[in-house]
Amino acid sequence: MKTITTHYIDGEFVESHGREVMDIIKPTNGQVIARVTLGDEEDTQHAIAAAKRAFTTFGRTTKEERASILRRLHQCVSARIDDLTAAMVEEYGGVVQFARVIVESGVNAFPAAEKGLEELPMIQSWGKTTVTLEPVGVAGLITAWNANALFICLKLASAVAAGCTVVIKPSELSSLQTQVMIECLEVAKLPKGVCNVVIGRGDVVGAELVRNPDVAKISFTGSVGVGQSIMRDGAATMKRVTLELGGKSPTILLEDAALEKAIPAALILAFMNSGQACAAGTRLLVPQSRLDAVKRAIVDAMPSFAVGAPADPKTGVGPMVSQKQYERVQSYIRKGIEEGAEVLAGGEGHPEGFESGYFVKPTVFVNVKNDMAIAQEEIFGPVLCVIAYDSEDDAIRIANDSKYGLHAAVLGTDLERARRVASQIRAGRVVINGMTDDPQAPWGGFKYSGFGREYGQYGIEAFLETRAILES
Ligand code: NAD
Repeated sequence: MKTITTHYIDGEFVESHGREVMDIIKPTNGQVIARVTLGDEEDTQHAIAAAKRAFTTFGRTTKEERASILRRLHQCVSARIDDLTAAMVEEYGGVVQFARVIVESGVNAFPAAEKGLEELPMIQSWGKTTVTLEPVGVAGLITAWNANALFICLKLASAVAAGCTVVIKPSELSSLQTQVMIECLEVAKLPKGVCNVVIGRGDVVGAELVRNPDVAKISFTGSVGVGQSIMRDGAATMKRVTLELGGKSPTILLEDAALEKAIPAALILAFMNSGQACAAGTRLLVPQSRLDAVKRAIVDAMPSFAVGAPADPKTGVGPMVSQKQYERVQSYIRKGIEEGAEVLAGGEGHPEGFESGYFVKPTVFVNVKNDMAIAQEEIFGPVLCVIAYDSEDDAIRIANDSKYGLHAAVLGTDLERARRVASQIRAGRVVINGMTDDPQAPWGGFKYSGFGREYGQYGIEAFLETRAILES
């Protein structure tokens, strides 16, 4: 049993002032694997004060100095990829193959930020005018549990590149991953106070970051409800905010799509990270004329998305993170059946052989109408809704008929047509013919999926203010 009782403040491990203790539960069997002492307002204020002191010098560092810190961070976190992956498998139940991809994507955020920083013009001048980009100040970085290490790396890389000092409030469900990240920070030997971490509850540590006048910016990844409260409460101290929120992403399967490739691609989009992914393609839009063939292809492909032990490299879908998340998924599966959708695969309850822990059955609903709750609300589990459309225009209308706009996919053979459809989707990112990534491409949402962008130059700009100096 691991015990965590410290935070990382001003370059040191500091015993928690907060006394509340939380159990970390292993999602595969519901057993307690660690105990974490959670921070309180005082721990958070201590960390903010350290970040504020550090900002007076760090905020004036050169691009080259910050690039060298990013390289150091990259080196230190790269050395712990195996440990971060193992922690994600153990405490979150992340499927090992995908957990590793997530961790590596976090690690890659450091060189991506270095490149973005190199290319970002921090000074521009014309005539007697000089415009400079300045770090916004102390930033509070708040992360979700479904890819905690990735979010820490990504937000930290962008903030450091911009010259901000930070207080990280990781998801309290991800304390083992956070511990490895803190050990990386310790080895990286950043200047004292540049990066502080306080483990604690959102309504305690997170709320203090949002309300504290010495924090200039909040970069948040999590649910819409908390994102809205951050916007509302942060307004009192004029916080700058980046909000990375939920999604209900459409995958449009075009009439000319080759099903032997398109269906596995659609199912990967739906079930990645066991469906606990903001970008999960949970609405599959299919031409009415191909519906029967699509149903057959899905049934044939489902064995590749079988439930299993997350540490097993052959596993497609692991457990949900918690009992709460298990029940949430079950309640939506029940709701889908009540709403009149038809279960093509999966359904209610535990999969056979996985009765303990938080395993659910990867579920595919057909006969779904886009106004059903299962098609409109974010479930955050492996539940796919197949929705039929009549024409290309109808597909685009259905895709955009959502309060969310984070991610989307278009699958088809004629690339020109796929691009034409992609350009009409109201979402921050659209992928063509399968999940892919580019660390310089912006990430973020339209509508209720939030606002602001992360990654590359876009991510750094989110931590900058613009100042113009004019001479008469
Ligand atoms: P959550 O909103 O419950 O928690 C996110 C973080 O906010 C946690 O660290 C939590 O402790 C903290 N928090 C909670 N209350 C707070 C408060 N009052 N003030 C400040 N901080 C507070 O979300 P979750 O359950 O951890 O994550 C799931 C959600 O995250 C889903 O909706 C998912 O779509 C979204 N998400 C979005 C992205 C993206 O990039 N857009 C990525 C991953 C997850």
